[in-house]
Amino acid sequence: MAVANKPRYVDLSNPSLSVECPNCGLRTQRFLDHCRNCGYKLWPSSTMASAAFKAWREADPSRVEASRYELDLPVEPVDSSIDYAARAHQLGIHLFPSSNYPFVICLGALFLGIAAVPVAGAVRIGLLIIGGLIFLYGVVGWVLVEDIRMFPTDSPSTSGDVHH
Ligand SMILES: [Zn+2]
Repeated sequence: MAVANKPRYVDLSNPSLSVECPNCGLRTQRFLDHCRNCGYKLWPSSTMASAAFKAWREADPSRVEASRYELDLPVEPVDSSIDYAARAHQLGIHLFPSSNYPFVICLGALFLGIAAVPVAGAVRIGLLIIGGLIFLYGVVGWVLVEDIRMFPTDSPSTSGDVHH
């Protein structure tokens, strides 16, 4: 960004918020009365610096957000919303689809956990079967069904690579 070179008179057409200090040569805030680097007095008074800043700011509507304590104008806010799924697909990163199936998997794991408790053999086998079925249902639903739906082109090629 262009640096204003005459701090004491307000060049309203100059969009710069910074100025080269006549004493130390470093960039400093244009509308503060002292140089931030060496303390050189840029403006006769802080009131004058403030008035100059106000005049400069009113000259252009894009300067409304500007602060006299900054060296540059604020950057336009960028649209930072990113489609992470599309981006991951583009980069070849595999994202698991957001899904309710992990809860099913947890429920299955709960039954499997209860089955690990030493109670009567038949009860444990029953729990093991129920837990195993729920667990498998969750895994199959999540990894196979939803994942293939989400990445239709990926999965046939990857499974094709596995079988030689
Ligand atoms: Zn200075």
